[in-house]
Amino acid sequence: MNIEIELTNNRMPKEILPPAAGAHGAWLEFRGVVRGEENGQKIAALEYEAYPEMATRQIRRLLEEISTQHPCLAAKIVHRVGIIPVGETAIYAGIASSHRAEGIALLAEFMNRLKQDVPIWKRRAVPRGEIASRPSPIPEPFPERGCVEDQPQQVQTFGSAAAGAPSPVHTAALRMPNEFQQSPARSVSAVTLDDALAKIFSHCGPLPAVSVPLEDSFGHVLRETVCAPTDLPDHDRSTRDGYAILDCDPSETFHVVDTLHAGDWKPRQLKPGEAVRVATGASMPGANLRVVMQEDVERNEDKIRVIRRDNDFNIRRRGEEIKAGAPLVQAGARLDAGHLALLASAGCVRPPVSPRLRVVHFTTGDEVVPAHQEPKPGQIRDSNSILIKGLLKRFPSELFQDHLREDFETAKEQIRNRKNEIERADVVLISGGASVGDKDFTRPLLEWLGFKIVFGKVAIRPGRPTIFGVNGQRIAFGLPGNPLAHFVCFHLFVAQALAGLSGGEAKRLLRGKLAEPLKDASNPRETLWPARLDFNGGEARLHPLGWSSSGDVTGLTQANALLRVPPNCEAIEAGAELDFLSA
Ligand code: AMP
Ligand code: MG
Repeated sequence: MNIEIELTNNRMPKEILPPAAGAHGAWLEFRGVVRGEENGQKIAALEYEAYPEMATRQIRRLLEEISTQHPCLAAKIVHRVGIIPVGETAIYAGIASSHRAEGIALLAEFMNRLKQDVPIWKRRAVPRGEIASRPSPIPEPFPERGCVEDQPQQVQTFGSAAAGAPSPVHTAALRMPNEFQQSPARSVSAVTLDDALAKIFSHCGPLPAVSVPLEDSFGHVLRETVCAPTDLPDHDRSTRDGYAILDCDPSETFHVVDTLHAGDWKPRQLKPGEAVRVATGASMPGANLRVVMQEDVERNEDKIRVIRRDNDFNIRRRGEEIKAGAPLVQAGARLDAGHLALLASAGCVRPPVSPRLRVVHFTTGDEVVPAHQEPKPGQIRDSNSILIKGLLKRFPSELFQDHLREDFETAKEQIRNRKNEIERADVVLISGGASVGDKDFTRPLLEWLGFKIVFGKVAIRPGRPTIFGVNGQRIAFGLPGNPLAHFVCFHLFVAQALAGLSGGEAKRLLRGKLAEPLKDASNPRETLWPARLDFNGGEARLHPLGWSSSGDVTGLTQANALLRVPPNCEAIEAGAELDFLSA
């Protein structure tokens, strides 16, 4: 398909030449025109911003991708950026195809995905009075009519025409399928929770393993099974302070011929009537021995008399705990203190583990101020930075945090100044700006950073505007700024992704009983309801916590589980079983 793309600051001409398409059956033109109202307010203009190179690349990629399903001959897209006064064209799309249906389908799909996939965004609505309204020197073909219009303005179909200016056979206004009439923001389809998780898992394979000093490996995931290099213990050892004698020596008195402390190594063959003083942990001097406890003998100079014999040999036998070559710690184990002790005892001092994850976390929002600062009216203290920092403590990670200004160019400049941190990062998290508001630039920013967006919305609450992107083995999330949504999305998505990157097991949904009824749960989306989990007689019991909005912070102190509440369910009785994720 012949594709022409132009991003321009200039006003669109009335006539735009079609791209060279050769012989074609249909030629469709679409113009999106800025209308005079935004969120109920009269406006003078809309300001559009773009990252031009990337936007051009993405538009091309999008058209190429869609044309595999709806083959067309040529497409010309002109997108205006900067301030676009009411009544003027923001986007022009011209499509040539063999048949009308293919052109219409391609155009519809392209317009639906434009806002989601292409880093061109509405920066702000310009209020009336801010710019002088001036009459257009070239009248726009379609005056004020709807937000940036998603309806085709005019469709002309032509009979098979020779190359060159086609002669019209028929001109008609055509209604497009319903979804085409939605605003792009609403038409971006949300993936289901299960789909989102499947996509995350498929992109989050373990990072290459590294060998780290044992003392630095706590919490890391072991990547190769470590086997015992020798029998454990490697020799018979006494478990008591006492006297080693031949195990079937019936003598009552013994001559003490030697003393062995832990660490001594003095093999010798004992004779009947001989004893060796041994300390707890000392290597036994030979085979076929038993240890009589010190408390069970009377000592006189170098003689002992056994006054009581127990049935126990009081010896830890060589290899009784584990045999040489047997697995000590399996690959996939998240190393805790016990594992480290075992690895240390086997001499594994540089275990092969998943690397420390390098995480970069940016907060956004000009209303957000550091927690130590007194917020002015309209401002809000940053709670997400510390939340993310705390949640990441569960993963061996290095964290770099910064706050981005809510202006795309400034944010990009800030990021350029943090090139090193960004380039080293395995995971990029951006808090806030993940939705479709005028200032929400998380998605284009991630794209600018080279991430391909895998999904941009999930059909859950809270946490719908969650973005997931990949760039090779690096991943990125755009998380909705509201603290409760942040908490939920971290546990649902980020923690699962981090588990994947670090080669560990993802958390599974468990099943538990509702301790109290859940009221007013009805919502068309599935809900991840914060809850407190406790155990009663070994049974998981879930206490749903009250929450009023995804902006809630108070519940976070109690929530240690997320209940999976199906969509459209009015109320759930106490005692009902539900899936939940521990948090
Ligand atoms: P956003 O996702 O950017 O639309 O933000 C949604 C809400 O979350 C807004 O009310 C923000 O003020 C709030 N918010 C954004 N970032 C933070 C943060 N770092 N700490 C606390 N609240 C935040
Ligand atoms: Mg924001």
